[in-house]
Amino acid sequence: MRNLNPQDSHPERLGGVGGELPQRQRGFDYLIVGAGFAGSVLAERLAAGLNKRVLVVDRRSHIAGNAYDYYDESGVLIHRYGPHIFHTNAQRIVDYLSRFTEWRPYEHRVLAQVDGQEVPIPINRTTLNKLYGLDLQTDEDAAHYLASRAEPVENIQTSEDVVINGIGRELYEKFFRGYTRKQWGLDPSQLDKSVTSRIPTRTNTDDRYFTDTFQQMPKYGYTKMFEKMLAHPNIKVMLNTDYREIRDEVRHDHLIFCGPIDEYFDYRFGKLPYRSLKFEHKQLDQEQFQAVGTVNYPSEDVPYTRISEYKHLTGQVHPKTSVTYEYPSAEGDPYYPIPRPENAELYKRYQQLAEQTPGVTFVGRLGTYKYYNMDQVVGQALALYKRIEEAERGSESEASPEHNQSLTEQAP
Ligand code: FAD
Ligand code: UDP
Repeated sequence: MRNLNPQDSHPERLGGVGGELPQRQRGFDYLIVGAGFAGSVLAERLAAGLNKRVLVVDRRSHIAGNAYDYYDESGVLIHRYGPHIFHTNAQRIVDYLSRFTEWRPYEHRVLAQVDGQEVPIPINRTTLNKLYGLDLQTDEDAAHYLASRAEPVENIQTSEDVVINGIGRELYEKFFRGYTRKQWGLDPSQLDKSVTSRIPTRTNTDDRYFTDTFQQMPKYGYTKMFEKMLAHPNIKVMLNTDYREIRDEVRHDHLIFCGPIDEYFDYRFGKLPYRSLKFEHKQLDQEQFQAVGTVNYPSEDVPYTRISEYKHLTGQVHPKTSVTYEYPSAEGDPYYPIPRPENAELYKRYQQLAEQTPGVTFVGRLGTYKYYNMDQVVGQALALYKRIEEAERGSESEASPEHNQSLTEQAP
């Protein structure tokens, strides 16, 4: 059954946007598939910036896509699809999202359980000292030590090459090989170097997971931020609705598709591989479970990759705590595009097909098959909006000589 988004308290208003005709006849300017970051940013921009009438559909029962958070039975704010930490270097993305949320400073820290100890990951000087009982005092000491372990690889292509080249086989095996084999169901030698390159190696003692200039969480959670983003009278949201159910019923001029691009084209060239996860959410009758937001378990003897405890991320004060275990899986929702050359080739074929398909634009992590963080998806959606806006303004001024003139008059 389809539910109108309960937060939309004025559904009748939406039917009447811009005129008297019933919605069925008037239709929408834009149909957007997916209420995650990509779809919601575009819906907001098109509605508020260009006064477009927008219908957003999502087959899930909630908005916010993979960033969806909610209060569990214990009353602890958790993330349904695993820990989401917001970090970016792009001030314009912060400025944009700040229209819909206040922020709470949070710097993520992660420990890896290796050889029976919990040590910082990314590997830093503290990691080396703890793991090997060393006393490296300076950045130079650590750099020297790492250089002595590194095994230079001439042509760095894979996720194995890049780590072995930087820190050598032993540290690679302790921290990267098992984790990556579990997470992706592939050996690092079968994955593009971009995957493990996400994790740097440090010679200092900085134990933050990210070093971006902006590291803050939406103060009241992601879902609240999305509610504000979508609370525009020109935006209608339909949940529990697959695009295929309504595509022939809802009139629309343009389609923006944030789901998997191969699915849109009925897998014409074959399936694009995605990696999935099973999330095990646990509520614990204790105030704190672990020392930091996330503990990684690189060993292949442990079936999960990491455990995250949300109260570290959200700052919530509560007598109980909630954690999530992540179990990688081949089956289930598509969470991760898998970066490797043959998949990039297959995606390229779909991309070319998309370019030849008028009236539809693909965006987001699944729509463009890119291993993007949240801020990158927001950036991609804002860039697409800019192109749409420029095209609209361009065609407006072509169609209206008066408008053209007033623009000319304003020019210095
Ligand atoms: P999504 O959020 O996936 O939204 C797409 C939506 O489209 C979904 O809700 C889906 O239901 C809907 N949809 C698809 N097909 C259809 C259809 N046919 N009909 C109707 N609806 C459809 N990023 C960070 O920056 N920091 C992090 O710490 C971080 N942690 C992550 C942890 C995990 C476990 C995962 C999986 C991702 C993490 N990310 C993180 C990445 C982040 O989730 C994504 O960058 C972001 O959510 C992508 O937004 P999106 O709109 O492209 O896609
Ligand atoms: N990785 C690893 N060991 C770790 C952490 C990360 O081998 O302790 C590798 C692994 O391949 C992982 C990738 O680095 O998929 C990127 O890690 P990140 O934490 O960015 O993954 P995400 O949060 O996107 O799941």
